[in-house]
Amino acid sequence: MSMFKAIVIDKNEAGQSVEIRSFDEADLMDGDVTVRVSHSTLNYKDGLAVTGKAPVVRRFPMIPGVDLAGTVETSSNPDFKPGDAVVLNGWGLGETHLGAYAEKVRVRGEWLIPLPQGLSPLQAMAVGTAGYTAMLCLMALERHGLSPDRGPAIVTGAVGGVGSVAVALLAKAGWHVVASTGRPEEADYLKGLGAAEILDRSELAGPARPLAKERWAAGIDTVGSTTLANVLSMTKYGGAIAACGLAGGMDLPTTVAPFILRNVALLGVDSVMAPKALRVEAWNRIAHELDHGKLAAMTSTIPLDQAPEAGRKIVEGKIKGRVVVEIG
Ligand code: NDP
Repeated sequence: MSMFKAIVIDKNEAGQSVEIRSFDEADLMDGDVTVRVSHSTLNYKDGLAVTGKAPVVRRFPMIPGVDLAGTVETSSNPDFKPGDAVVLNGWGLGETHLGAYAEKVRVRGEWLIPLPQGLSPLQAMAVGTAGYTAMLCLMALERHGLSPDRGPAIVTGAVGGVGSVAVALLAKAGWHVVASTGRPEEADYLKGLGAAEILDRSELAGPARPLAKERWAAGIDTVGSTTLANVLSMTKYGGAIAACGLAGGMDLPTTVAPFILRNVALLGVDSVMAPKALRVEAWNRIAHELDHGKLAAMTSTIPLDQAPEAGRKIVEGKIKGRVVVEIG
């Protein structure tokens, strides 16, 4: 029997339990690569998993953790050999497949990408799914033909993980970034990441008018609901908003007015099932375009046993920037 340490979510008649305990390697799920995990990270989805607030966990027991950086221990996959440094984001890890809040994972090799050159495992997890999704959003805006000369770009949920990286990436790409937040006390933090303006999120909170004054040409929305509806109503003619999150709710109480009268586009962004080529492109761009000083400024580190508590905080909107979970 080969045991390793893991956070385990289980469920019985009494409800859901979360504990740190030994896990038997023999109970890992099928896969052709075993990875020794050195770092994971905290994503909103991990918070939903440990709190049970939304049914993201699809089998029990489950080890949460949607992201990992680590070193290949054994592999029967021709693309990977022992000692390779790798990264994994999504693909159902921590939802349908035993995840990364553990010293070991066994996964399908096709889910892995090599650790991007220029990033340490800790830095890769400081980026994590949140940061890689922010880059997917920027790439979606660019594919739509948008550039900084068209006007400002808004980021909602700016102090959060996706939001913090989005602010830094958009500013680096030359955008005038409007950072929307409910934490005005973090204005200096956001300006340090590159925000040009801070917008109190209450301005985007009420019921949205079909069309409002045009304020931005592009946006990355992590909040959804009335926030996204307001953002769309204030988007300039021909602009686009990349929507990736639901921190404020899953509904979208809008009208077709921005789409049919202002030619506004709503670009959906999913990171979990994104094809490998897109992932590799996003990670390579992150390695080159995300300022390492800014990444460090938005990152804090916790040990594995604090991950469940941090998960509870993220669903309450109380986490700032990115949190790395140190494991190995
Ligand atoms: P965080 O909790 O770190 O950030 C979310 C931020 O949203 C908060 O910091 C807060 O920002 C704001 N917020 C929270 N609650 C509300 C509310 N009720 N109304 C308005 N704003 C609110 O989470 P992440 O950045 O990691 O994730 C953000 C969202 O993106 C989540 O919904 C997550 O599931 C989603 N996501 C989607 C992915 C995909 O593949 N599509 C991948 C990764 C994340 P502030 O304090 O600045 O106001």
